[in-house]
Amino acid sequence: MTDVLIAGAGPAGLVLACDLARRGVAFRIVEANPAPPGHRSGSRGKGIQPRTLEVYDDLGIIGEVHAGGGQYYPAMAWDGPKPLGPAKFHRIEKRDPTPDVPYPSMWMLLQPRALDILRVRLAGLGGRVDFGVKLTGFVQDADGVTASLQHPDGRQESLSVQYLAGCDGARGVVRASAGVEFASETIDPHPMITADVVVEGLERTHWHMWDNAKGGALWLGPLVQTEAFQLYAKFQDAEPDLSFEGLRKLVRERTGRPELKLTEVLYASHFGSRAGLANRFRAGRVFLIGDAAHVHPPAGGQGMNTAVQDAYNLGWKLGHVLRHGAPQELLDSYEEERLPVAAQLLEFVVQMHKDWLGKAKDKEEPRKGEHMQLGLNYRGGPLSLDERLAVGESVTRAGDRAPDARVTDAAGASVRLFDLFRGPHFTLLALDGAALPALGSQYGDAIRVHRVVRPGGAGEGALVDSDGQVHRIYGDGLILVRPDGYLGYTGPGGALGFRSYLGRFFG
Ligand SMILES: Cc1cc2nc3c(=O)[nH]c(=O)nc-3n(C[C@H](O)[C@H](O)[C@H](O)COP(=O)(O)OP(=O)(O)OC[C@H]3O[C@@H](n4cnc5c(N)ncnc54)[C@H](O)[C@@H]3O)c2cc1C
Repeated sequence: MTDVLIAGAGPAGLVLACDLARRGVAFRIVEANPAPPGHRSGSRGKGIQPRTLEVYDDLGIIGEVHAGGGQYYPAMAWDGPKPLGPAKFHRIEKRDPTPDVPYPSMWMLLQPRALDILRVRLAGLGGRVDFGVKLTGFVQDADGVTASLQHPDGRQESLSVQYLAGCDGARGVVRASAGVEFASETIDPHPMITADVVVEGLERTHWHMWDNAKGGALWLGPLVQTEAFQLYAKFQDAEPDLSFEGLRKLVRERTGRPELKLTEVLYASHFGSRAGLANRFRAGRVFLIGDAAHVHPPAGGQGMNTAVQDAYNLGWKLGHVLRHGAPQELLDSYEEERLPVAAQLLEFVVQMHKDWLGKAKDKEEPRKGEHMQLGLNYRGGPLSLDERLAVGESVTRAGDRAPDARVTDAAGASVRLFDLFRGPHFTLLALDGAALPALGSQYGDAIRVHRVVRPGGAGEGALVDSDGQVHRIYGDGLILVRPDGYLGYTGPGGALGFRSYLGRFFG
């Protein structure tokens, strides 16, 4: 019996599949394309934001993500053949890791490569993608969803599941078939193109930007671990020509550097600067995840990252309803938490895109860190419960991302909180003297408990907060970290509300 059907094996579908697989949920993941995208299908969503890197750490693939990608190069503004210096609007910052933010900078990993890594992880967890299988429609009632699948040999299959996850992208069938409205706007009416090209003679040291080129902006950025550059071009008053000769001429004319020689086009496509948001992320037993729920214009590099975060938010909730007897209402919190976040990100990205169009590009880019997705939170949301009476301003609260920090274990070894969080479980931190509620055995490994004390504090097997990082970040009391790395509950030791709070996740 299959519990969940995932339609689409892009970033959203594969992250959801990995998460469900490690939770022992019975699912199928189908992908309309006959084979995985190769290097001729475009580098697409290659900017991995810090919060997404944390998700990849939790899924156990951070090593592969680091090995398969590379740092972004700094941006350089050009006026024809003349370098002008660092591009102000398109700052690409490299930050140093801190104990609470171990992955502080955007990382480049080409989308096909990221999908390869996720599929290998999925295989390691016992799952696999059914390629060439297309969801053509579905019906749902109070008890389940019946999906129609078309196989590559033309065979039709009818599959009954409890839930359908629409990870089928911006042009998928799930959103429209579910009757969900989608409000969208075109941010820039001028045509844009993107292409992956090989250009001989161009330095692989910078992301090169000719923002004021005649005919429209042209960018060429080195794609890590390849010989190619990603090209973006805008067309003020002409129709784009995607042919090899057309692109060759474009590069020559807009860069004003005749020595540059475009020798290969791996991929080229029109690229719309549209923004759109579904008015619901859930319709009964059907969920919309990633581009199926929201479409981002190119500035800001948020589309794929938001898709990953959506999937990561839904995965554990489906797991708890299907495997731990949580009430179905838990699933309502997917839309309640993710729709406002997607709307907020979209607003920020649209504004950024408009600033760029509005010639604000000679000023400093207005990013304040939203793009890294580290500050996004679910404060005040349906799963966030604060029972501590007073905490300092800088202390994390229910709904906030759970930051990393280092502690020392009983053997004297340094341990990261992220090491404790990694996996499908909740993590209960009892800080200093907080009295632990008796949990009993019914939760099994679904809640892992750790006592963390200040140096000199008592507690058998306790972790020691040697540098005071944990208490500085988290304060005191009981802290319940959700499986997706957000604080769910905070309260004083022996807190009254804790047990009933757990009832939201366990039957
Ligand atoms: C040029 C370009 C650059 C980008 N750069 C960035 C960036 O730097 N950072 C960033 O975050 N984002 C970026 N994006 C956006 C990013 O690529 C998307 O937001 C991301 O791919 C969304 O993931 P998804 O899984 O929701 O959808 P998709 O990646 O679109 O995956 C959907 C999958 O569903 C399959 N499918 C569709 N219909 C069906 C069906 N009926 N049955 C079965 N399968 C189906 C499709 O074949 C596809 O494989 C960029 C996009 C482009 C085009």
